[in-house]
Amino acid sequence: MKKFILGLAVLSTVVMKAQTQIIAHRGYFQAQPPTTENSIKSLENAQKLKIYGSEFDVRMTKDGVLVINHDEHHGKMEVSETNFKELETLKLSNGEKFPTLKEYLKQGKKDPSLKLIVEIKPAKTPEIENEITQKTLTMIKDMKLEGQSEYISFSLNICKQIKKLEPKFKVQYLNGELSPEQIKKEGLDGMDYHYSVFQKNPTWISEAKALGLITNSWTVNDPAVYQELKNQGIGFITTNIPDQLKNK
Ligand code: MG
Repeated sequence: MKKFILGLAVLSTVVMKAQTQIIAHRGYFQAQPPTTENSIKSLENAQKLKIYGSEFDVRMTKDGVLVINHDEHHGKMEVSETNFKELETLKLSNGEKFPTLKEYLKQGKKDPSLKLIVEIKPAKTPEIENEITQKTLTMIKDMKLEGQSEYISFSLNICKQIKKLEPKFKVQYLNGELSPEQIKKEGLDGMDYHYSVFQKNPTWISEAKALGLITNSWTVNDPAVYQELKNQGIGFITTNIPDQLKNK
């Protein structure tokens, strides 16, 4: 009986792993009512969905404050060239304060079941990228969120820097030009590529899986594309419509 239960546990783990998991892109902002991407509210919405994770973008202000913003600019201000106090004067379109990484992580910590998918945005020099990376990892460790966080970046330098500082942290590369074998050689944990890359390279998902890499794709907002990737056994999907894809 014990063996049988153990067998069932192993089997259910395998089955669970085989399922494609959903990550909300910049939080769940296309909700009812809609809210602003990368806002605390969008993260809160994602927490209610009971999905795998919620993604957000990290940048650093001129005076070294880590903030959550997708674009290089917040309004007309360039984030990396503006001090936080000035950036803060402009609220998000939903009326929230311009969010810092710290505030964002505090909200994330309220629901340990939702993974925090931390995208560290490329910066103007490798030195600045290394500083952002080091500060981000330190904050995550200080807040004891190591087990709840995973990392993505378009910058190969940032990806490698994370692995250098914290070899156990999970890192996926976003830019799309490296094959599964190259990702493995670089010492990264996986690939999170635009879906068109997987369409152009139809063997990559199975090759990556055979190498033990994480497979993820952005930004999949078309249920037909989702189905196509799911049929290939992709591990994760990053989407603006997590509510619609989570039960498909
Ligand atoms: Mg992003």
